Amino acid sequence: MPVLKIIKQPDARLRQKAAAVVTFDAQLEALFDLLEETMRAGPGGVGIAAPQVGESLRMVVVDCRASLRPCKNHGLLYMANPVVEEMDGETLGREGCLSVPDWVGMVKRAQTILVSYDDLHGQRRQIESSGFEARVIQHEVDHLDGILFIDRVISTKALVRRL
Ligand code: ZN
Repeated sequence: MPVLKIIKQPDARLRQKAAAVVTFDAQLEALFDLLEETMRAGPGGVGIAAPQVGESLRMVVVDCRASLRPCKNHGLLYMANPVVEEMDGETLGREGCLSVPDWVGMVKRAQTILVSYDDLHGQRRQIESSGFEARVIQHEVDHLDGILFIDRVISTKALVRRL
């Protein structure tokens, strides 16, 4: 399967608010599959959001199992219309992004979140996530509202060029 092209900052499409997913069909599943493949092809790809491939839809794929940062996780997640319902605690960690390839930065995120989303069949689900996986989910949900991690770095000194 071909891998989709990742659009990069400062492409204006990364700054749009994405539209809700309303149709749950084979086409949606095919797009989720393509997003997953595109994520896995990228360096350190543990998450991806549809706006990163120019699709203005509220779709997120997360899979932290391949991360070097071990964490309790839910394996592969296909999330449509995800909403972070509750946040608890605070943690500081390093983030990068397939759409901001040259930079990494320190970002404060909630330690634990409760997130709801629609699965492939349009069924609403809810999970509690914490640590690195929760960080990735928060990062990807931000993409759906046109927010990039570089907007959230704790200071410009916390943004460094990737070597
Ligand atoms: Zn990103």
